Amino acid sequence: MTVERRETFMKDVKRVVIKVGSSTLTYPNGLFNLGRIESLVRQISNLHNRGLEVILVSSGAIAAGMGRLGLKEKPKSMSRKQACAAVGQVRLMHMYDKIFGEYGKTTAQILITKDDTVDKKRLRHAKNTFSALFKEKVIPIVNENDAITTEEIKIGDNDTLSAYVCKLVQGDLLILMSDIDGLYNCNPNINKDAKLINYVSAVTDEIASCAEGAGTKLGTGGMITKLRAASIVNSSGAAMVIVNGSETDILNRVLNGEEVGTFFDCSGI
Ligand code: GLU
Repeated sequence: MTVERRETFMKDVKRVVIKVGSSTLTYPNGLFNLGRIESLVRQISNLHNRGLEVILVSSGAIAAGMGRLGLKEKPKSMSRKQACAAVGQVRLMHMYDKIFGEYGKTTAQILITKDDTVDKKRLRHAKNTFSALFKEKVIPIVNENDAITTEEIKIGDNDTLSAYVCKLVQGDLLILMSDIDGLYNCNPNINKDAKLINYVSAVTDEIASCAEGAGTKLGTGGMITKLRAASIVNSSGAAMVIVNGSETDILNRVLNGEEVGTFFDCSGI
């Protein structure tokens, strides 16, 4: 039943937001995992060729900046983190533009701040920009504007950012590419009997209790931010999937309706 529901849902998906985390894109030393990035770009280009409208929300600016500046750990001070983001964002986009270009795709960079997700006028402008880019068959690549947003006013994690973006562009589906296979009934790092949950009809308190906040060293989000993202997209009528970003051909498999990762349906809302 849930398997069929997922297959049927995927057949109607036209606009998809794909979020990829720092730990999928970079090694722990902050240098790019080129094989992963090439595979990601190839898969997204293929979805685009299938006729889907795709937005990529990519983390990795701070990690890439750290790599470039030779820092072993994420700096503590805000200004140094912002400096890393400023250095890394350019490198990230340079790389995406180069590899997407090899598949004949044009990319655009959109850097968002929290205000853009709440202020009506800014929301409208952002929406129009995305529409114009879709008309031109461009693949927008989004990140938070880390170099200038301060702690008090930032969204802070790209799980939440990608959910806002999905809502803004009225996307049908948000795919979170993570370093784990999906949502488990308890923490799989601690409990070897933890079971992957394939289908979630609504983010209830019971589902929320399966999540724990621990993120990886380079990433910002954990399961809690992913569940928050699910609530945001589900309430706007879209679905969400969490998958392991390192699995082969994972994006095609999701869009083909295969039962991979955790599917957060929007029918339970
Ligand atoms: N915007 C941050 C970056 O590009 C990442 C935030 C996150 O990992 O969720 O480094």
